[in-house]
Amino acid sequence: AERARLAASAGPGRTADGHPVKLLLNIGSAGDLRPGAEGVGLFRTEFLFLDRTGAPSFEEQVAAYAEVFEQAEEVIVRTLDAGTDKPLPFLGLPEEQNPALGVRGLRVDRLLPEVLDTQLDAIAEAARATGTQAWVMAPMVTTPAEAAGFARRARARGIAKVGAMVEVPAAALRAAALLREMDFLSIGTNDLAQYTFAADRQHPDLADLLDPGQPALLALVAMCAEAGRAAGKPVGVCGEAAGDPRLAPLLVGLGVTSLSMAPVSVPAVRTALAARTLAECADAARSALI
Ligand code: PEP
Ligand code: MG
Repeated sequence: AERARLAASAGPGRTADGHPVKLLLNIGSAGDLRPGAEGVGLFRTEFLFLDRTGAPSFEEQVAAYAEVFEQAEEVIVRTLDAGTDKPLPFLGLPEEQNPALGVRGLRVDRLLPEVLDTQLDAIAEAARATGTQAWVMAPMVTTPAEAAGFARRARARGIAKVGAMVEVPAAALRAAALLREMDFLSIGTNDLAQYTFAADRQHPDLADLLDPGQPALLALVAMCAEAGRAAGKPVGVCGEAAGDPRLAPLLVGLGVTSLSMAPVSVPAVRTALAARTLAECADAARSALI
């Protein structure tokens, strides 16, 4: 019944001429779910790991993932993204001079592979128990080789769809190669802006440099969308830009197939898309790239 409620509450977003764009939610736990979207485009799993002295057990993880799978038709789970802005003391990672450029996201797997193994096991088990197709993506993927390694381990567990977040310029530049390994890409514009403009995403004096509407960032989005079109695979955006009604039409004009955002942003983005044809979105995107 819960699942029916969320899924039945809204169709896809549409441009004025009917081009569909999936509108999805960014959540941190089942408690963040709201009606009004088609599913979950970014399930940040860090919450499960915060404020703990040890890793959450396999059973705890299965319960947390199943709770979300039961209430939403389509869910993309992001594997653990520990890092500068999300320190996890129990991981015992060494201090670093440049944490944003260090062992974070998927890179933690280099030191602690059992963390990802247990998480993938738990996601696969929660999907099986709830009769859901699990979609899983890794944060901070940088090279096609990293993508291949992640995909191999996820597919070995029967996970249906495996993807990479594009948060590092190198990943955007190699989007076509990533899509030879992956079923989909999801662009994390918060980190992609941080690394493209070499500006700490939390630095109060650099907010203007981090604006994802700048041509350099949009050009990287365009590369990803073009690679997705060529491969016939979905490429979405799940950073804050996706929930900005000023930017959402531009992203659609560049060719992204889904937008994932905080639940509160869905109505305004739906309205912004409905006010423009796809051709108008594409025109706006072309102008913004100049
Ligand atoms: C991003 O970087 O855009 C993203 C969605 O991930 P997070 O904000 O959790 O780092
Ligand atoms: Mg990120």
